[in-house]
Amino acid sequence: VSVGIGAGLAGDLGRIVGADHATDVVPSEYLVDATYSRGVRGQADVLVRPGSADEVAEVVAWCYERDVPVVTRGGGTGYAAGALGTGGVLLSMERLDRVRSIEPEWWRMVAEAGVTTGRVRHVAREHGLYFPVNPGALEQSHIGGNAATNAGGPHSFRYGVMRQWVQGLEVVLAPGELVQLGGHTRKDVAGYDLVRLLVGSEGTLGVITAVWLRLIPAPEARYPILAVQRDLEAGCAAIERVYASGAQPAALEYLDGETLRYAGATMPMPLPDHPGFAVLVEADGLQAEAAAARELIVDVLSEDAVAVHAPTDTASAEAVWRWREGVALAITAQRGGKLSEDIAVPVDRLQEAIAESIAIGTRHGLPSCSFGHAGDGNVHTAFLVDLADTAEVGQAEAACHDLFDLARRLGGTVSGEHGVGRLKGGQLRHQWAPRAVELHGAIRATFDPKGLLNPGAKLA
Ligand SMILES: Cc1cc2nc3c(=O)[nH]c(=O)nc-3n(C[C@H](O)[C@H](O)[C@H](O)COP(=O)(O)OP(=O)(O)OC[C@H]3O[C@@H](n4cnc5c(N)ncnc54)[C@H](O)[C@@H]3O)c2cc1C
Repeated sequence: VSVGIGAGLAGDLGRIVGADHATDVVPSEYLVDATYSRGVRGQADVLVRPGSADEVAEVVAWCYERDVPVVTRGGGTGYAAGALGTGGVLLSMERLDRVRSIEPEWWRMVAEAGVTTGRVRHVAREHGLYFPVNPGALEQSHIGGNAATNAGGPHSFRYGVMRQWVQGLEVVLAPGELVQLGGHTRKDVAGYDLVRLLVGSEGTLGVITAVWLRLIPAPEARYPILAVQRDLEAGCAAIERVYASGAQPAALEYLDGETLRYAGATMPMPLPDHPGFAVLVEADGLQAEAAAARELIVDVLSEDAVAVHAPTDTASAEAVWRWREGVALAITAQRGGKLSEDIAVPVDRLQEAIAESIAIGTRHGLPSCSFGHAGDGNVHTAFLVDLADTAEVGQAEAACHDLFDLARRLGGTVSGEHGVGRLKGGQLRHQWAPRAVELHGAIRATFDPKGLLNPGAKLA
């Protein structure tokens, strides 16, 4: 819905946030997110960059009074185009970037929504603490965006996703009221869990302005173990053995043979000629605990591996994760574009999900590859495209729909962690019971009766 409200809007909103922080000439970098690789672009009539939670409340109130849509933007690293509006106000949270408090003795921190994930982790580490959520674009993604998407990442296998780490929220609710939900109290069952409802709501229920975070003492040691298997079947059998070993790894990841073909050149270990599959595990904890888990995992992976790389020094361990973080870029670089999804299935269906997702690509005549968070059954399959070829992009869209059907058939979900955004609208109604979908809509309407908060996103 482009409201076509033009330049007057920037003038009015500039009186709330300062003239320098409201503009109707929206820089192009604010109109893309990680879906640039599938050619998605957004639109906005005005960009507003409030400097405080009170200013956010005033902006939302101003918009609500005048029926202007508001799309909240965090770091713009989302994979579902949720931060890309089609008009109205684009509300960037970048200036809300203060760590309000860190209390290491109580393992907790309060950070404003625009603090980057990397900074949260860094501040925690400086105090001997650990914030385990690491969704992969640390230097850009915001803690508010992580909460709004209920972000995950490799270490969610042991530590859980964002929802486990958010104890409270400060949030602007329609029609423009600043409210605190939860806080420093670690247990609270006095009402419905509104904090957990807001986490993962993708900007459709309110604008998060600050987050109360749980932290834990930092693990003393972290050991990655990277094992190459001959094929998918052997790789999935190895994953099953890790589960059965009794070790509780922090991360349990997979990369299929095609992914290794694209990203193998920079892999920090000598690669066999035709690597068929790889499993990346991390053992962590107190020194003795991590060392014991590492030994156990190296044992179970070595049983049937072509090669195993299990460094114990910090520099080599970091090199493994640096390489893993670059995998998505290496895939995009193959053809300049990719459509990638993040279906999740029960972990016992992982092998089927990977094999069938690649078969879907083949059926649509598209090069494809798959990697993801094996332990959580979270399958990131990517279809590689030339963005200039619209027929090919259309094929890839169709392939994504087949992936969603596959996820449902295997008892899973169309999104494990990236969210619905603007790309997966309408999928939930094929996944949930009609009554549940109805409640989903009713909750949204209760929070946002005028339908102005991120209107095109997270549609059931
Ligand atoms: C290389 C790479 C790897 C990635 N790997 C992972 C991964 O392993 N796991 C994972 O979960 N994600 C991953 N992501 C996706 C992305 O980093 C996460 O979804 C992240 O949480 C998005 O945060 P953001 O601040 O960039 O949000 P944005 O992209 O700006 O916004 C995402 C959504 O949240 C809403 N939003 C943002 N801030 C607020 C706020 N303050 N209040 C209300 N709503 C808000 C937006 O409206 C939008 O709907 C990856 C991305 C990249 C580029």
